[in-house]
Parts: sequence; C-alpha cells; structure tokens
Amino acid sequence: MSGTVHIIGAGLAGLSAATALAEKGAHVVVHEATAHAGGRCRSYDDPALGILIDNGNHIILSGNRSALSFLKRIGGDSRLSGPASAKFDFVDLASDRRWQLEIGRGVIPWWIFSRARRVPDTRPVDYLAMARLVLRPGAGTVGAVLRCKGALYERLLAPLLLATLNNDPPTASARLAAAVMRETMAAGGEACRPLVARDGLSSAYIEPALAYLRARGAEVHFGHRLRQLAFGDQGLETLDFGSTVVTVGASDRVVLAVTPDAIARLMPDTPVPSEFRAIANLHFLVAMDVEPPFTGVIHGLTQWIFAFPGRLSVTISNADAALDIPREELARRVWREVSSIARQPEELPPWQVVVERRATFATLPEQEARRPPARTRHRNLFLAGDWIDTGLPPTIEGAVRSGQRAAQLAAA
Ligand SMILES: Cc1cc2nc3c(=O)[nH]c(=O)nc-3n(C[C@H](O)[C@H](O)[C@H](O)COP(=O)(O)OP(=O)(O)OC[C@H]3O[C@@H](n4cnc5c(N)ncnc54)[C@H](O)[C@@H]3O)c2cc1C
Repeated sequence: MSGTVHIIGAGLAGLSAATALAEKGAHVVVHEATAHAGGRCRSYDDPALGILIDNGNHIILSGNRSALSFLKRIGGDSRLSGPASAKFDFVDLASDRRWQLEIGRGVIPWWIFSRARRVPDTRPVDYLAMARLVLRPGAGTVGAVLRCKGALYERLLAPLLLATLNNDPPTASARLAAAVMRETMAAGGEACRPLVARDGLSSAYIEPALAYLRARGAEVHFGHRLRQLAFGDQGLETLDFGSTVVTVGASDRVVLAVTPDAIARLMPDTPVPSEFRAIANLHFLVAMDVEPPFTGVIHGLTQWIFAFPGRLSVTISNADAALDIPREELARRVWREVSSIARQPEELPPWQVVVERRATFATLPEQEARRPPARTRHRNLFLAGDWIDTGLPPTIEGAVRSGQRAAQLAAA
C-alpha cells in the first residue's frame, strides 16, 4: 500500500484497524489523545489496592471471531483463560438456589431437554422465545418480542442481555440482542466458552498490539488529541493536533477511531449515539482464592462475580441507578452479597469502586438508528469504534470488527 494511514484513537477499534493495516504492509501512524492506549479496555495500577487491575471486568466468548483473530494476530490469545466448556454458575439470592448451566457443544441445543442442565424451573418449550428473538427481532425493543418475565428470562436472558447490551433488557434493541444470541447461544456451546485476560486487559489486548505495531515500523504518538479537521475538494486535507498540524497527502488515508462525543465535536453533521450507560466494578481483596471463576447473581445488586487470584470482583452493568448510592455504602452492600455467596468473612476487606460513567452508548432502538457507517462522504476518511453501525452491541467484538472494516476500506 502506498501512502500513510493515520489512525486517530488507540482503543481496541483503532488498534484493530492499525494492526490489520500494518499486517498488509501499510505505513501506519497512530495518534492517541491520552498518555496510554486501550481506551475503555485497559489495566492500571490502583493506588488504593496497590495492585494492577482493569478499568472494568471484560469477558469475551469463544464465538467472538473478530476479537479472537485480532488476539491471534498480535499474540495476545495465549493470555486468555477460561473453562474448557461453556459452563456458568448462577446463584439466585431471592430463593437461595444455586445451579450450573452447561451449554452443550453442538448447535442442536440438546441441553434444554435435560432437567439437570437447563435453567431450573424452565421447560423446553420456554426456549422457543429465544428462537423467536433470533429469527424475528424486528426493529423495536426486546420487550416487544419477548415476555420479559418468568424463570428463563430472569435466570438466563436478563443476565445475558444486561451484560452484553449494558441496558435494561426490555427497552434495549431487539436487533442487537438477536445479533448477540445468533453469534453465541444459537451457535452452540463451542461459541459460548467465556474467556478473560488472565493477567489483565493490557497484557492481552494492548501491550502485544503496540509491540506488533512497533515491530512493523508503525509510529504511535501519545498526547496527540485531534482538535480539528479541514476538508477540501480532495476530501480530508489536514489533521490539527494543536501543537502540530499534519497534512493528509494525496495517497494518505485517515481512520477516526475516537469516541462519539469526539466525532460530535470534529464532524458535527455526523449523527452519533448521544445517550450512554455506566458500568461499575467493585474489587475486594481476599485471603484465599475462590472457585468458580464466574458466577451470575440473580436478584442482587451484584450481577456477576469474577474470581481472580486474591481478589473478587463484581460487575454492575446499566449502573446509573447504583451510582446514586455513596461509594462505601455500595461496597458494603455488595460485599454482604458476595461474602455470603463466596463464603467469605463478613468484615469488609480492602475494596475499590471503579466507575466508567460513559461505558457504552445506550443500546436503545433510537440510539441504534444514530450509528453511522464506517464509510464517510470523504474518500479518504473512515470511522471505527464500538458505536459504528456494525450490527453488534458496543463490545470488544464490535469495536474490533469496526476496526477491521475501516482497515478494509482504507486499504481498498
Ligand atoms: C467497565 C467496562 C466493562 C466492559 N465490559 C465488557 C465486556 O465484558 N465484554 C466486552 O466485549 N466489552 C466490554 N466493554 C466494552 C468495551 O470495552 C468497548 O466496547 C471497547 O473497549 C470500545 O473500544 P473503542 O476503540 O471503540 O473505543 P475507546 O476504547 O473509547 O477508544 C477511543 C480512543 O480514542 C481516544 N480519543 C478520543 N478522542 C480523541 C481525539 N480527539 N484525538 C485522539 N484520540 C482520541 C480515546 O482516548 C480512546 O483511547 C466494557 C466497557 C467498560 C467501560
């Protein structure tokens, strides 16, 4: 490829585009506003706990083919870990009941015919609702397609959709819910094995990507916040970073892999999602390692518990309401649930609450309609990010796939 490709933003979308282009031999220059790469998916040294933690617990599933191909390219796949089969432990705090859901390997869901393996208090016929959602989601909400009540909804669909859509499921886009189900549950257990970055997000997703880029002669500039774009007859002409202005040459291309609010400032005519949802993570240091690695919690403030060596960590998606609770009270309330589930001492251990207020855009049908395509009306400018119209929810898979798409267009 001739010319330079400038990638603005070193989140997963930007790194996905940059590494795909570097693999094709393109000269890549990455410009990131902050002092670090990874955006909403990275590790940092937490001063309160004195250890390296992630900005949020991130899980992918073995059916996330774009995320896994990105990780294979950069060599981060060996830093993932997870169970050998699609097993998920659940606890219902209202009934004090525990069960393990094991999704069979194949595409035919034999597991729903086994009382021991399906969700307690459900019947095989209940699962037809999932087929309806996958096959005929329509353009409206999940609530318009599914009866958002009953054991199957409360004990499986709600936790799954809340975690992947980061929105109250009944008001979320049915199309996005269907896309998740199609690429995971409907594809069988082989596509549903949960995978986490064993030693932190940066060690799997970010550091290997930066090393991959540097090994291929790419430049990565931190502290380069794009402030303004200038267009002319030939498309995008300059990138203004404040202290430096970069001229976009005749054979150069640019991928904007920034956040929707940055696009709203840089290209005010482009519609972008404008409503967001928070995710909160709570971390507790524990003396002994705990099994299982993931536990879904029903009828609690806690939604998922992740067990790491010496640490239990809780995810609360769609967390805006939980953020009204003062931090210490939130930590105490969540620890009360976690200590009883994981059989830990009642006394509150060292803790931390990490909040991403704009974790993802709100996956409502009207926000979904504001997602722009990767191609812009300018021949040398492309968009990437989990908020681009990928047909997927705002997840690692969506961000990486958007970067792949932008790279294809930029290389064409
Ligand atoms: C707490 C939390 C938990 C999550 N859990 C999961 C999960 O379990 N599974 C999953 O699949 N997904 C999860 N996600 C979603 C996932 O993290 C995101 O979808 C993904 O990281 C988005 O990547 P991105 O590159 O699109 O955006 P970003 O990560 O936001 O990257 C955009 C980058 O652009 C930079 N930038 C912005 N403006 C400018 C500018 N003007 N100039 C230069 N650079 C700029 C930013 O600094 C940033 O580095 C979670 C997200 C959060 C916050």
